[in-house]
Amino acid sequence: MHYSALDLIKVEKELGANNYRPLDVVLERGEGIWVWDTDGRKYLDCLSAYSAVNQGHGHPRIRQALIEQSGRLSLTSRAFRNDQLARFYEEICALTNSHKVLPMNSGAEAVETVIKAVRKWGYEEKGVPENQAEIIVCADNFHGRTITIVGFSTDPSSRNGFGPFAPGFRVIPFGDMAALERAITPNTVAFLVEPIQGEAGVIIPPPDYFRQALDLCRRNRVQLVFDEIQTGLGRTGKLLAEEHEGIEADITLVGKALSGGFYPISAVLSNSEVLSVIKPGEHGSTFGGNPLACAVARMALKVLVEEGMIENSANMGRYFLDGLKSLRSNIIADVRGRGLMLAVELDPDAGGARPFCEKLREEGLLCKDTHDHTIRISPPLVITKSDIDWALERIGRVLR
Ligand SMILES: *Cc1c(COP(=O)(O)O)cnc(C)c1O
Repeated sequence: MHYSALDLIKVEKELGANNYRPLDVVLERGEGIWVWDTDGRKYLDCLSAYSAVNQGHGHPRIRQALIEQSGRLSLTSRAFRNDQLARFYEEICALTNSHKVLPMNSGAEAVETVIKAVRKWGYEEKGVPENQAEIIVCADNFHGRTITIVGFSTDPSSRNGFGPFAPGFRVIPFGDMAALERAITPNTVAFLVEPIQGEAGVIIPPPDYFRQALDLCRRNRVQLVFDEIQTGLGRTGKLLAEEHEGIEADITLVGKALSGGFYPISAVLSNSEVLSVIKPGEHGSTFGGNPLACAVARMALKVLVEEGMIENSANMGRYFLDGLKSLRSNIIADVRGRGLMLAVELDPDAGGARPFCEKLREEGLLCKDTHDHTIRISPPLVITKSDIDWALERIGRVLR
């Protein structure tokens, strides 16, 4: 039976839990920065699956790694060893200057994992009294969708109706050093924070904030945990966004683009002290660190570096940002970004970002609104100047 796009949308709405409100575009094919819908219309992907497709859709070398590994061995569980895991560890540690790795599947699982690890570290190494560990997080954070994580979200739609929540979290404003200083107690084990707040609308920290925060954390034996699940792996024009701050976080979470857009995998990357507290049997995941995920992740990292995607993100990001800044429009309130993590904030009187995303879709660009008034623009890192010119012409037309 042939399904039209409308048929497919209708079935989704009837049978699916409607936990998303997607643009009504039904995609069936992708290549590089482009995706095609079921009617053959072509679009520039300006979301990159929230940065999970940094390397572009259907990257041929990552696809080949997936095909080859799936023909050899896909899953062992961690009850046995596999020949991909050690190689993945070695390559990601060398690239990110980490000492230890714990692989999981989704970003939220990496966040849950680090919460467990820093709490245990607090009890065993810092001497925090049992069940008293505190973790500091920021307002307007986004760290995932599990019960623990939404419990420290400040977004009502993420949180309302899902309690009771786990205790042990303190929320402070993002970018506020004095608030961080006040929030730290002898029981604080970690400060969990995004180096740039993505879902909040691409909020860039004040200069020197994180250098001071790291210093304060060091003095108080608090682990600085950077959630780089969205900002990491080239998105901001550096391998990790922490490089813009001139620091190295104690613990870094990666996910999303580690998948190359093909096969979910996330990881906690840590100094040796924290992950060493986890002993056999205390944490795990059936699929975490499986050989297929490891082989895909190894190639996802390799192409980012070898094919110059990180430099391209920096260069094209600058070009795109300059182009957006020079758009003449009376409804643009702000334009900001780092690398190819860009956002256009609209005037609150413009009627919200969603209708503009609908109009951009008609022009052939798929963008996602966030927090009512902001359109974020984060294409795959393989975008070129002429693609950006093409995009700017259309964005200019829609926002004029
Ligand atoms: C997407 C995201 C997560 C959650 O990742 P999932 O794979 O969706 O569970 C966590 N933190 C940040 C910053 C993210 O952008």
